[in-house]
Amino acid sequence: MNKTTHLEGGKVWLVGAGPGDPDLLTIKAARLIAQADAIVYDHLVGKGIMDLARPDARVIYAGKEASKHTLPQDSINLLLVDLAREGLSVVRLKGGDPFIFGRGGEELETLVASSIPFEVIPGVTAAAGCAAYAGFPLTHRDHAQSVTFVTGHLKDGTVNLDWPALARPKQTVVFYMGIGAAEEICRQMISHGLPSLTPAAVVRNGTQADQRTLLATLGTLPHAIVESGITPPALIVVGSVVNLHEKLSWFEKR
Ligand code: SAH
Repeated sequence: MNKTTHLEGGKVWLVGAGPGDPDLLTIKAARLIAQADAIVYDHLVGKGIMDLARPDARVIYAGKEASKHTLPQDSINLLLVDLAREGLSVVRLKGGDPFIFGRGGEELETLVASSIPFEVIPGVTAAAGCAAYAGFPLTHRDHAQSVTFVTGHLKDGTVNLDWPALARPKQTVVFYMGIGAAEEICRQMISHGLPSLTPAAVVRNGTQADQRTLLATLGTLPHAIVESGITPPALIVVGSVVNLHEKLSWFEKR
């Protein structure tokens, strides 16, 4: 492990902060956060993680709650370039993994265009974190041969996805950003062939002290979400692995 206490200036580290629990940071992520001159972070970065930053670090909140973007993506891209050009070591900190629905690729493309050197540090993506802490083995051999991560983000009020592929049996499908589109997601999965009794769950604030899991079926999930008042950030997980929660849940039983 590289233990240098000083990071080179003029460079950006695109770092995954994991799903929330600070103990799920990689050792490399924790070291970079503790050393950087400047940190630009999103709202999904778990509580407590920014406490690792140097007291004198320049810390900038880039926002990104659904439909409440604090800094537009273009400004974030340019901000990273400006900070690096000032000669600072810059950590760009994102929830989960930076390459999974994180727009990390777009930020790197701007850096490349400006000849700013960078590194990418992966993080535990929300699906892996929530599944582990909720007790859903995503590819349990008796239930699923594959797992698919998809975005349930609404564009013009609809979700344009490959529904015939997502509705095939023997797989687990994890929807990121899907709470606002839950009704459409469940309707499409059923109309493309999955039984309405197919197990489906929501995990909110996975791996955090207030993690909450809601178990339902494709038929009942939209109503259950409304009833429970669950809001983002949350994942929707569809497939029979969800039923293992009863047996394998450990975190919410502490
Ligand atoms: N790059 C991130 C995903 C960003 S998209 C990653 O790899 O995890 C944002 C979406 O991720 C949220 O709308 C939610 O669906 C999901 N998400 C992120 N953190 C979460 C958490 N702790 N619990 C549940 N869902 C989470």
